[in-house]
Amino acid sequence: MPAPSRPVRWAELRPDDFRARLAACPVACLPLGLCEPHGHVAALGLDLIKAEYYCEEAARRFGGIVAPSQGYHIHECGFHAPWLEEVVGEENPFLAALPPHVMTRLFLYQLRAFANAGFRAVIGVSGHAGGSQEDLRRVANAFTARTRLPVVVKTDPEWVAGRFRGDHAGRYEISQLLAIRPDLVDLNLLRRQQEPGSGGRLALGEDAVEATAGEGRAINEAIIEAIGAAVRELRDAAKDHSAAPLLTYADMEAIWSALGGDNAPWHSASPKPGQPPVGEASRWKPCEHATLS
Ligand SMILES: [Zn+2]
Repeated sequence: MPAPSRPVRWAELRPDDFRARLAACPVACLPLGLCEPHGHVAALGLDLIKAEYYCEEAARRFGGIVAPSQGYHIHECGFHAPWLEEVVGEENPFLAALPPHVMTRLFLYQLRAFANAGFRAVIGVSGHAGGSQEDLRRVANAFTARTRLPVVVKTDPEWVAGRFRGDHAGRYEISQLLAIRPDLVDLNLLRRQQEPGSGGRLALGEDAVEATAGEGRAINEAIIEAIGAAVRELRDAAKDHSAAPLLTYADMEAIWSALGGDNAPWHSASPKPGQPPVGEASRWKPCEHATLS
């Protein structure tokens, strides 16, 4: 039996091991994803499962520590709403979604936790793409401006832009999961959407039938390499940074207020110009505009 690999997850490290990994490479890697439908063929947590895999493999090969996962994400509102109406319809989508003002505030406090634990840089790897990463980057930039701690947030297709084209539950994503967790994909269910009462398409991409584990491995390796390059760069840059003072709640609230607080104009809070309005009777209507006032 092969020797078990050394733990790289924050949750699995003892204090001495945490200190040693931090001293060697003070970079936190945060997997971000959620549960949402990827057709009948694939597990709901595809976005989270791949983000965790990329962070763990990158930490194992290049250093750093994998932070506890953020398994809920912005969805359902703004530009997501008409898309969901189109590709899921009125089915229960089994979503683990948060509104932008909750997710971004949580993310801000997650960054504080990383800084106070001694990390000198953060990489957020989001398996959920589509635009909400813009809001996380807004928070990240505000946090960096205040603390000088660099934070990189990219969705998995953004790590390999120009080499692979991301999709939702199509050839790209189903290939990714086939390579990571083949037990969580069943391509025999590709036609299940045609059966009455099945729930229909459930956001399956039209070219999912072309997915292969081989293509998934190529995509996944390219993503891990790209994250690795960022880990090395941030690790080397961190040598010049001295330890930061402890960040307080007040420090975070000052950043939050400067961003606009709960009613900040989050990118994910509104549909994009030109998107058709959600139908009045749709389950997606109440969250189409994620504003509090
Ligand atoms: Zn996905």
